[in-house]
Amino acid sequence: MSGFVSLVGAGPGNPELLTLLAKRRLVEADVILYDRLVNPALLMETTAETIDVGKLPHHHKYSQYKINDLLVTLANQGKRVVRLKAGDPYVFGRGGEESQFLKANHVDYEVVPGITSAIAGLGAVGIPITHRDFASSFHVITGHRKKTGEELDWPNIAHQEGTLVFLMGMEQLENIVDNLIKNGKDQQTPVAVIQWATHWNQRSVLSDLTHIAEVVTKEQIGSPALIVVGKVAELMKTLQPKPALFGQHILVPYKLQSRLFSQLQDAGASVGFFQRGASRQLDFQLPDLTKPASLLVYDISAYQSFQEKIIAEGADQRHLAGWKIIAKNKVIAQHLKLAGIMADQVGENLSHLKSTTYVIGERHQLAEVTVSELLHPLATYERVPVEQTIDFADYQTIVFPSSLSVTELISSLNQDQLMGVKGLRCLAMGTQVAERCQALGLGNVIRTEPSYQSVLQTLKEAKRVGKISNSHR
Ligand code: SAH
Repeated sequence: MSGFVSLVGAGPGNPELLTLLAKRRLVEADVILYDRLVNPALLMETTAETIDVGKLPHHHKYSQYKINDLLVTLANQGKRVVRLKAGDPYVFGRGGEESQFLKANHVDYEVVPGITSAIAGLGAVGIPITHRDFASSFHVITGHRKKTGEELDWPNIAHQEGTLVFLMGMEQLENIVDNLIKNGKDQQTPVAVIQWATHWNQRSVLSDLTHIAEVVTKEQIGSPALIVVGKVAELMKTLQPKPALFGQHILVPYKLQSRLFSQLQDAGASVGFFQRGASRQLDFQLPDLTKPASLLVYDISAYQSFQEKIIAEGADQRHLAGWKIIAKNKVIAQHLKLAGIMADQVGENLSHLKSTTYVIGERHQLAEVTVSELLHPLATYERVPVEQTIDFADYQTIVFPSSLSVTELISSLNQDQLMGVKGLRCLAMGTQVAERCQALGLGNVIRTEPSYQSVLQTLKEAKRVGKISNSHR
């Protein structure tokens, strides 16, 4: 059976700057080969095998030959292979060579375009690559040539009126500047250097041809970066967006279509995910539905399992008609509403129960509920820890929306990772969550109200008073 290779553009860094087709290919893939510059957040939704061909395993980089061979071998095994490349696959980064190799080896393939850093990276700091007053063309140039000793056509490049964008040029910065000046470019031409554009650790500087190398050294700006030469660069001064949470790298529990993710990203933060545990359904005894009692819902997944069990036994939601439904908190009440149930009550004091109450939830979460004559905990499912592959040193803050998310993360960490997490600021959404953080040894805990609004406000306030600075590695 013959497989298929997709050369997919991952965009410049921000995981939301991805095409819809690229997103679908990631979900469909059997195996993904990805590069160093690709944001790991993009690999969160896939169950595919992932191979990092960009780093240095045992000091031997995956050579281009090996990558080419691997693509062909995997495709010949009948796999759907995604070759995930930063930006656009055909803007440097050897996408063209990979296509040629696949073609020569009769492997079916396609190219899924991506947003290139060569354009979007400028926009990220407020530089329009063209502008009627300043640049009527743009030129994307590599600062790193094949080792043939060939020089770029400097007289031609220096005389272009349009914007010059150099990729892979940081090691050659002085050389680039010298050649441009030597070939007649005005020494005062504005130059911007943008590192890690659209990533959380994006940094940028603005100067002119004469001084840029000095500024870059002083500010310790390195690769990966774009060198932008031309009058448009100066627009960065006025057009650079400065969203409130810019530079903040925040970890949240993984959830498909997470509103917490969207709200933080919209405020300018970069959000990464940690894996929640995997859910395993438990077998549990359904209470006698003909004897109405109270049903206290600890979480919405448990309510879903409860429903499934009712249906499996040939009944449906109507059999709960005489039951009193209690939501553990406002968030659960909202979820219940979406499932067509208006909770009779929000919150319950378990030590003062007056009637029989069944509590449904996750097994660990219910461990704190003690069985009594009136109180019957029913664990409908349990979470089993999964391995975390996050580099916690890259983050400043973790947001925990529930105590379960705290327990899940902590129980999935090895000793080193645990130390990493202890170095982060933890935002606990609610008193119980804060207590759980403290009980599990997390030191730097800030309690917020259990609402996204409150999380945003707390982060903005902390940044304003300087408790959070933009740190750069
Ligand atoms: N195909 C990619 C470019 C690959 S070459 C694209 O279309 O964007 C790798 C070079 O791209 C890096 O050395 C750097 O110059 C540039 N680059 C890629 N992503 C970048 C980013 N987020 N910020 C700054 N430069 C980036």
